[in-house]
Amino acid sequence: MKEYIDLFNRLPNLIILEDEPLARYTGFRTGGPSTVLIPTEESSFVEAYRTIINNHIPFFVLGNGSNVLALDEGFDGVVLVTKRALNHISVDETTITSGSGISLSELCRVALNHDLTGLEFAYGIPGTIGGAVYMNAGAYGSEICNVLNKVVYLDENGNYREKNLSELDLSYRHSIFQAQKNWIILSASFSLEKGDHDTILGKMNELLNRRIEKQPLDYPSCGSTFKRPVGSYASKLIDECGLKGFSIGGAAVSEKHAGFVINKNKATTSDILELCHYVQHIVKDATGFDLELEIEFLK
Ligand SMILES: Cc1cc2nc3c(=O)[nH]c(=O)nc-3n(C[C@H](O)[C@H](O)[C@H](O)COP(=O)(O)OP(=O)(O)OC[C@H]3O[C@@H](n4cnc5c(N)ncnc54)[C@H](O)[C@@H]3O)c2cc1C
Repeated sequence: MKEYIDLFNRLPNLIILEDEPLARYTGFRTGGPSTVLIPTEESSFVEAYRTIINNHIPFFVLGNGSNVLALDEGFDGVVLVTKRALNHISVDETTITSGSGISLSELCRVALNHDLTGLEFAYGIPGTIGGAVYMNAGAYGSEICNVLNKVVYLDENGNYREKNLSELDLSYRHSIFQAQKNWIILSASFSLEKGDHDTILGKMNELLNRRIEKQPLDYPSCGSTFKRPVGSYASKLIDECGLKGFSIGGAAVSEKHAGFVINKNKATTSDILELCHYVQHIVKDATGFDLELEIEFLK
């Protein structure tokens, strides 16, 4: 047992899982053991976070894990899960405020139920609000920064803080939170517009069907493995290099969508990383383009 576990045992409304395989929590379904903390109330989430920082315990905050790669050796620290504790959602006219543990798809369904338009693009992205703000997630010509209004977060001292859209440094798959790993997003407000229920529903279903048709959703992955390079598309470059279907160990470049590295057959994180580096090397040599990983490392 880790020496700091007793600190958490004292806190109410907190599930503590020791030696928990991170493969259960990550998009690729890979990753070794760690201590996983699952607070079930916001107050216990905040207390757990304050305990972490006051005691200088290495930590990683996890949403749905759909953009996270955990190492095979695991993580020697605590993984703090948002989903159970930060799950409130409220609607005030055209503004929705959502806990960071709510899924994007749930947020989209609430918007639909209130005939609010603007979030249709996000339907089917398998992340939480926290992960979506952190990544400035986007698809089909829109992204979170187009609808985000305000974020409430815990700072590096565990104090509540707030930032407006213009203060969040949002750009393609980037936010201020990537430079401030000790800031934890608690909730986000979205400014939407009144729309027509059937039109919103139609758009959501159309985009979801496009995902089902084009993406290898039957295999574990983190979605698009590489960022879109300026002037081209990662999937186009990888396809042109003849890498569709190429595999190392259990990891493969998807046959269905070359932008996705997938866990095809009991891959390890080492397989995935080796394959990613190979793809980057071949694409650079053949086309001159640098492919940057879009995935976050749990370390
Ligand atoms: C099949 C598939 C399709 C996908 N399609 C898309 C797509 O179309 N567009 C797109 O942009 N992405 C896509 N993704 C990637 C992923 O779903 C998004 O990046 C999503 O926003 C990640 O959210 P998450 O909750 O899973 O975050 P996680 O993977 O859990 O975490 C991602 C990062 O955010 C941080 N984080 C999470 N919550 C918080 C918080 N509360 N406070 C501070 N930091 C936090 C984590 O520490 C980590 O660094 C796809 C993934 C898959 C598997």
